[in-house]
Amino acid sequence: MPVNAESHPESGDHDIDGDALPINEVFYSLQGEGKLAGTPSVFIRTSGCNLRCWFCDSYHTSWKPTHSWMSIEDIIDEVRTFDEADHVVLTGGEPLIHEESVKLLDELADYGYHTTVETNGTIYRDTAIDLASISPKLRSSTPTTERDPDGEGEWANRHDSRRINLDALRQLVTNYESQLKFVITGADDFEEITDLVERVRNQTQIAVPDDDVLLMPEGRTRDELADTRTTVAELAMDHGYRYTPRLHVDLWNDASGT
Ligand code: SF4
Repeated sequence: MPVNAESHPESGDHDIDGDALPINEVFYSLQGEGKLAGTPSVFIRTSGCNLRCWFCDSYHTSWKPTHSWMSIEDIIDEVRTFDEADHVVLTGGEPLIHEESVKLLDELADYGYHTTVETNGTIYRDTAIDLASISPKLRSSTPTTERDPDGEGEWANRHDSRRINLDALRQLVTNYESQLKFVITGADDFEEITDLVERVRNQTQIAVPDDDVLLMPEGRTRDELADTRTTVAELAMDHGYRYTPRLHVDLWNDASGT
């Protein structure tokens, strides 16, 4: 079973010495998605995101952010309690909106951890990242009034204008080992993916092989995944891209801390 860090120091900014991050949870589980699926990893989930996807599976880091502030030192101490793991995944929300993520990643690298950063690809930072797991958000992610979980549609325009930053994508792909991971809601998404992959390839000298383009079915529960995964698997086979499961959903459904 995944292990949650049940409690974080409930400190405000003023109680913390040095750099700190808003942390939603720290937990030990298996990486569920992408090239490293199945790898035991400590997850550090920061709070706050510059986008608002309607299907966000971490609602409490984006639509209604909740967190405790933790110093970099306390985060690393917490990570080190899971001594079975040598992989750390920095996720969110969008972890790269926080400048302090740079220091955290640099220090994790000093301790010898392999670091994956799960990012929406709209922000670039120069730091110690072993795998940039980039998930550009497609048109179908936009929280239109009908799909907005709060039913207001206020974020639709802001989300749409921010969701693709070609220069940040170029820098991430060029400077880090990477995977481009797309959340697929249906076959209609495919044309936009092909177009975006070509635009990224045209921006960099680095090869972006089809094998590094991952198609992931949208779905936060086993039932939701059952509706989309066959379509996505067939798209991957038809086009030579890689299918990625959502292992944590298969194993633990929508339990928190997984
Ligand atoms: S970019 Fe990720 S964390 Fe942000 S709203 Fe979209 S799915 Fe949620």
